[in-house]
Amino acid sequence: MSWYNGSMDESLARELALLREFGFTHLDLGNGSSQLSALSSQETEELELDVLGREASACVKCRLSKSRTQVVWGVGNPHADLMFIGEAPGRDEDIKGQPFVGRAGQLLTDIIKAMKLTRDDVYIANVIKCRPPENRNPEPDELDACRPYIRRQVELIKPKVIVALGRFGLQSLTEKAYSIMAVRGSWLEYNGIKLMPTYHPAYLLRNPDAKKEVWNDMKKVMAELGMSA
Ligand code: SF4
Repeated sequence: MSWYNGSMDESLARELALLREFGFTHLDLGNGSSQLSALSSQETEELELDVLGREASACVKCRLSKSRTQVVWGVGNPHADLMFIGEAPGRDEDIKGQPFVGRAGQLLTDIIKAMKLTRDDVYIANVIKCRPPENRNPEPDELDACRPYIRRQVELIKPKVIVALGRFGLQSLTEKAYSIMAVRGSWLEYNGIKLMPTYHPAYLLRNPDAKKEVWNDMKKVMAELGMSA
């Protein structure tokens, strides 16, 4: 049997790209096994997430690159069971380079704490990585340009549950014209992953009465993850 079957394994190709990124110029195959095998698949995914984030930090795929201070990639556990996906960075996020750090972010942190978790236990990201000027709504072509990043983040993190915060997060991830009012609190699915749509924390700041509904949604999420409320 030939030692080479003519098509490079996809994960091997990805690992090679990652190693090049990390400065490796050659591989020592003297003992008959590749150094690549030293990386577990989780480590490889973590590295790829990091590399992708650094790639995004220089992204100019849409006009938002011109007005941003910095790209807001995502924070948290790269192997989280629970991922929160919001819309776009605001002013505080644009300055600090982290998602959900303003007033709405504090509210999300409080929700996470009420679930007996920390921000380090979950992963938090937006569907748009650069702040739209004056916090305007993202344009369809901007959402299209940025969508591959969030989709790859989800593929690499492999959460068991995604919470979509608000209309844009939900619609852009799924590419479906859901009304958040109509589907909030009902389980949907994204690529085989359970998806819970709920209100964006910024909406809760304006409509505090809706906090009760969001908490009911989070109780469903906790039950799905086998956590007690
Ligand atoms: S919003 Fe997304 S696609 Fe547009 S420049 Fe920023 S990272 Fe690139």
